[in-house]
Amino acid sequence: MSFSLLDVRDRLGVQPGRMFIGGRWVDWDGPRFDQVSPATNEVMTSFAEAGRRGVDMAVAAARRAFDEGPWPRMAAQDRKRMLQRIIERIYDAEEELAQLQTLDNGIPYHFSRSSRLSGKACADIFDHYAGWIDKITGETYPQFSDASNFHYMSFREPVGVAGLITAWNAPLAMFAMKAGPALACGCTVVLKPSENTNLAATRLAQILAESDLPEGVFNFVTGAGETGAALAGHPGVDKVSFTGSAAVGERIANASGLNMKRLSLELGGKSAGIVFPQARSVAGAATTLLGLCSTFLSGQVCSTSSRALVHVSVLDEFVHHATEQVRNVRFGNPFDAATTSAPMITRAHLERVLGFVESGKAEGATLAFGGDRPGGELANGNWVNPAMFVGVTNDMRIAREEIFGPVLSVIPFETEEEAIRIANDSEYGLAGTLWTADVTQAFRVARAIRSGSVGINGYASIPNAPMGGVRRSGIGREGGWPAIEAFTELKTINFNLDI
Ligand code: NAD
Repeated sequence: MSFSLLDVRDRLGVQPGRMFIGGRWVDWDGPRFDQVSPATNEVMTSFAEAGRRGVDMAVAAARRAFDEGPWPRMAAQDRKRMLQRIIERIYDAEEELAQLQTLDNGIPYHFSRSSRLSGKACADIFDHYAGWIDKITGETYPQFSDASNFHYMSFREPVGVAGLITAWNAPLAMFAMKAGPALACGCTVVLKPSENTNLAATRLAQILAESDLPEGVFNFVTGAGETGAALAGHPGVDKVSFTGSAAVGERIANASGLNMKRLSLELGGKSAGIVFPQARSVAGAATTLLGLCSTFLSGQVCSTSSRALVHVSVLDEFVHHATEQVRNVRFGNPFDAATTSAPMITRAHLERVLGFVESGKAEGATLAFGGDRPGGELANGNWVNPAMFVGVTNDMRIAREEIFGPVLSVIPFETEEEAIRIANDSEYGLAGTLWTADVTQAFRVARAIRSGSVGINGYASIPNAPMGGVRRSGIGREGGWPAIEAFTELKTINFNLDI
């Protein structure tokens, strides 16, 4: 018998979603769309499709609040106090937010409430950025020559109206990673969550709506790609911060270039996890790499090392331990403590992942396990059994394209140089891991990998360190000070002291 999540939905009092624009919840007379749970494909509720009209309304409100309102000009301590009250409300709602996030994307509830994607983590991220508010400083510059008596200083000013567009895999953390620094810098914002995951974002929007933020500072719209495109291309938006696929990121870059919008693009990856014979524990590396692909969000994480580059001398050991590890995967009701893994976010994405499994087989890789769908009570959800391919070469589609699912491609190598070359032979450059107890080798290889971040003997990103990618993985960095730079413009003032 299959399970249902409607009881959780009803207990949480989920209502048809509304948009928050110009300080008011909008009674939308336009089209709406349904959001379904990926675990059961039951309808959770419906949301407004903002389209161009809704985006125009939201950008106009944000524009007014930026050009005429107090927020960008507010003293640091006042702005900080307003955010602190919001942060306290988020901490108070952390359980509810975690449950909504599990309804949103099917992440097992124990991860939703305790991992770096939790409600508490969301509040912590806002708190981190609130802490920057009175530290957003400029610089002064020494006289360059004695030709004049001009004195120079720079100020960091809010970039303006920020359009924030998020992906579905981390609804709470992503909201905070964008709205946190944008608001801290004095920007006004229009935030659009992924059309697949609006529940937790709507609850966060409610907390911001009930705060003392001046009218129009925070605006919340819902909708799919067309709404995102309307926001990203809107002439009233000064800055777009986007997290999502490289294909959409490229479309945004094309559209935004026309009016010189500032861009931050956090896009996909095809990262390599390199397992050297010097690894302290090949078993540990295999368990972690297979685990990252098969538990938690089931490989639907941008930084996942989905290509395992394994030295030939430890290949059999790696495959043995990865095969052992997959036995720990448990599907089921995401609110059950035993459930380890999330379903694929949509039916279409499930089909896409299954298509990659077929392409791996067709191109001659050996499927060691998985790649099919569980039946029984799980048939209604979008689960796919974690797959591992061995004998993969780096020119196969499963090694080149971002699958964003539980498929690990194992590629053998013989020398360190070869491993680095294969790791860098990718159009992406987001993250990567390497496994060795040789410290010199660890540093040498970490420096040689062309990506925004590298994990040595594991991987975990934190919100106060830079995160982002090179090449097709994006433009700019989130996390810590780089995010403050991304939501500010530098202004240089020169002051003639001879007059
Ligand atoms: P997606 O690109 O399909 O959608 C992302 C967002 O863009 C959604 O809100 C969507 O509605 C919107 N959108 C769609 N078309 C648009 C358009 N033409 N213009 C503007 N907005 C548009 O991605 P997804 O499936 O939601 O997320 C998965 C992707 O996100 C993966 O590629 C993953 O690697 C990436 N991701 C990256 C990071 C990172 O930090 N680099 C983090 C999480 C996810």
